[in-house]
Amino acid sequence: MGLIKLRDSDVELASWTRFHDEDLENFGRDAAAMLADAEKWARDNGYVIKPKTSFFGSRFSKMTTTYYKEIRVGDGWEDYSIPRKASVLRHEIVHAKQWRHFGRASFGANYIFSARFRWAMEVQAYRESVRAYRVLGAKEDWLRNYATREVPDVLWQNYMLGVLRKGDVYEHAARILLRAA
Ligand SMILES: [Zn+2]
Repeated sequence: MGLIKLRDSDVELASWTRFHDEDLENFGRDAAAMLADAEKWARDNGYVIKPKTSFFGSRFSKMTTTYYKEIRVGDGWEDYSIPRKASVLRHEIVHAKQWRHFGRASFGANYIFSARFRWAMEVQAYRESVRAYRVLGAKEDWLRNYATREVPDVLWQNYMLGVLRKGDVYEHAARILLRAA
């Protein structure tokens, strides 16, 4: 198991709410309207939403990712429920704002090479996923489980965070995500 401890500065970075701004606050309150607004935001801000290429390989082909100006949706996107699509796009819009804030070279390098940075950026973005589901009327128990179990599991399993202490990855993420639940 990983030995790298998350620092206070990582937790502080993961707790940022500056990308959870009024653009997102003003999106529709039902799933179809929220999804339409997210797609419109992407268009208006120069992003393209397109399917992933096989370049990423099968391991990551299911996950939607944002690479600078492209939001690449994963396999099975067409089968997602409308609320899930809306939540995923709101998550990706946070990543789009992160790319813009940190700059292409800095964000790209840090995201690839620093597990601590990658953890912090994903917690910021998953907090928006939680917010989206809350707006869409998800039940409190479901949200609590999503924030404290489901997302920390996804973080641990899918984002190559094995160099970090597992307890840190889970506990700090759960605490931050609960604030949005
Ligand atoms: Zn993400």
